[in-house]
Amino acid sequence: MEQTKQTGEGIQRLLDILKATGKKYDIEKITAAYEYAAKLHEGQYRVSGEAYITHPISVAEIVAGLELDTDSICAALLHDTVEDCGEQTSIRDITKRFGPDVALLVEGLTKIVTLHVDDKEEAHIENLRKMLLAMSKDVRVIFIKLCDRLHNMRTLGVKPDHKRRVTALETMQVYAPLAHRLGMQKIKQELENLGMQYLDPIGYAEVREGIERKYGQSLNFIENVRSTVSEKLEANDIRFTLEGRIKTVYSMYRKMFNQNKSFDEIYDFYALRIIVDTELECYAVLGIIHEMFNSIPGRFKDYISTPKPNMYRSLHTTVIGRDGIPFEVQIRTWEMHHIAEYGIAAHWKYKSGATSKEDMDKKLEWIARLIETEDGTRDPEEFMSALKIDIFHDEVFVFTPKGDVRALPQGATVIDFAYSVHSEVGNKMIGAKINGMIVPIDRVLENGEIVEILTSASAKGPSRDWLSIVRTGEARNKIRQWFKREKRADNIIMGKGALDAELKKQAPRSSETRRLEMVANVAKKNGFNTAEDLFNAIGYGEITVSKILPKFKDELEAFRQEEQPEAQATPQITTAADVVTATRPRHLRSNSGIIVDGADGCAVKFAKCCNPLPGDDVVGFITKGYGISIHQKDCPNVTQGQSNPDLKDRWVNAWWDEPEGITPVKSVYEALLQVHVLDEVGALADIANTLVEMKVSILQINSQKASGGRAIINMKIGCKNVEHYNSIVSRLRSLHNIIDVVRGFS
Ligand code: MN
Repeated sequence: MEQTKQTGEGIQRLLDILKATGKKYDIEKITAAYEYAAKLHEGQYRVSGEAYITHPISVAEIVAGLELDTDSICAALLHDTVEDCGEQTSIRDITKRFGPDVALLVEGLTKIVTLHVDDKEEAHIENLRKMLLAMSKDVRVIFIKLCDRLHNMRTLGVKPDHKRRVTALETMQVYAPLAHRLGMQKIKQELENLGMQYLDPIGYAEVREGIERKYGQSLNFIENVRSTVSEKLEANDIRFTLEGRIKTVYSMYRKMFNQNKSFDEIYDFYALRIIVDTELECYAVLGIIHEMFNSIPGRFKDYISTPKPNMYRSLHTTVIGRDGIPFEVQIRTWEMHHIAEYGIAAHWKYKSGATSKEDMDKKLEWIARLIETEDGTRDPEEFMSALKIDIFHDEVFVFTPKGDVRALPQGATVIDFAYSVHSEVGNKMIGAKINGMIVPIDRVLENGEIVEILTSASAKGPSRDWLSIVRTGEARNKIRQWFKREKRADNIIMGKGALDAELKKQAPRSSETRRLEMVANVAKKNGFNTAEDLFNAIGYGEITVSKILPKFKDELEAFRQEEQPEAQATPQITTAADVVTATRPRHLRSNSGIIVDGADGCAVKFAKCCNPLPGDDVVGFITKGYGISIHQKDCPNVTQGQSNPDLKDRWVNAWWDEPEGITPVKSVYEALLQVHVLDEVGALADIANTLVEMKVSILQINSQKASGGRAIINMKIGCKNVEHYNSIVSRLRSLHNIIDVVRGFS
């Protein structure tokens, strides 16, 4: 407190407010923030002629009234330093002096750009509100911003007329609804009243006069109610505080306007508020009130036992007073009262200093229950998605150079933005600026950025790479449209190349003419006029090769049929009947470790049902579109499949690449093992130990009970080849408890 003198009387009132809260504040830090701000704002004046520093001090006072923490008070004092004092200071300097938390708040407050709200439709305004929230990584930023706005509104009178209007409109459309959502009724009401005062001075004056007149007329009545209620409560030994609540000018104005009622028709003009210490007393008071006055049926509401989703709690009842004048009575405890007035901010009052992630989540959860949508209905879930900032993970809000807000999905790039403005803006884009700086067009957008697209009439149009960069379907479609329209020749070449390569894989011996014939047939059956149209569609991305390929099944099948006679001379595909006698062609190599008869370079995979190992006798099966799958010859699926005449033609000969069964390609294969054991627990331990000793990895293990106290353990292990496998099996067989070990099939 010795510092008070040298810091002048400016901060004294703030310190008094802080002291009155009874909470612990770091006065030294707050004083330092004040001195730092005062120095930076030195020589700056407000329009009113006052020293600029009076504004941050007043904002800090309002923040102090909310009983926010030390860091919030400091941030309020510093909130205009970075923006107004330019290079003299920086966020880094504030971090050094006041710590990262204060710096983060100040940064958040600085980043909230001036909003443009005139003549915008509701959706735009809603985006602005969301963006404000999204930009404030910490909800305290919004609290302080609201206090800042409130002080600007209180001192708006000195500004020129057009500025007043713009600020007042912005306040009514963006800030007051935000305060409302956060449950901060007190600030909301003051913002609305001030806003209305500037937007409709005549209407405001009329309603205010009306209220004053009515209040004057009702003074006797109100006094009488207060004194009779007081007497009765005192007689019942209840400690209480009485407050009279008169409807605000704005809410009166809105009610008259919305419900088209005259002043005298609005009868909750006056309410008596009784604040007590405990919940129990609330109900006691209610009983007393109902004893004293007749209540209006249907008007009693118990928000204590059933709080509103925004945590509002109180008892409401409407009773008839002297001369038949109805009035509302609200009964609540002090804690209920603070939450009703300060909303989320009250939460800081009751639970401050919480910084852990868990605490933060709890806070946000609490916030989640507070949302109140515009029409007064409450949807906690909607609030969750509307308020939590990283809660906004699915949207990012940016400005056009004209100040329009655009909402794009998180991760959206400059290209997405350009196409969201107009397809021609995207197509003619040659570059972009964010906040005035040239950026690459694949740059991911961040909240609050001003994005400007540079276009040129001679731009070459989008590039195909853009299709993989963009995040929005809108941009992707518009880019495709462009290619469809502008680049047919290129599309056809690209699409033809991609599709033909795949077809060639499927039918290696086919001629190009034959394949074109297939494409023409498939194109017609799938809604394309010509093969070229299909190539074009693939080229500009309307359809992918992998999507259209299955449609070639019949065509490929027909082609293979044609090939059959030839197959006699050079066995192209060997049927199951020939498998036994077929010999391994020496000249073929494969990089899968498997050679498949007549299918050089075809994709090969190992069947999961039998997991063949190098050295096993194998056979191949031509799958529909996934290459050839390799089975053990005695896999149950093979035995079954080869007896099916429909599948007859799809079995092909296959060999391991090395006659010894050891391939250079893969060192470990998966093998299935089924172990029949006597005692499950003991056997499992023995098996595991043995495999560890043999350095065999266990990839999967599970067991099932069998009759007679036995169990079957199914395992998948890593194995080099059949010899290796056999050595593992014989070691396991030697174990006591183990009845048998067999090759597993699944
Ligand atoms: Mn300010």
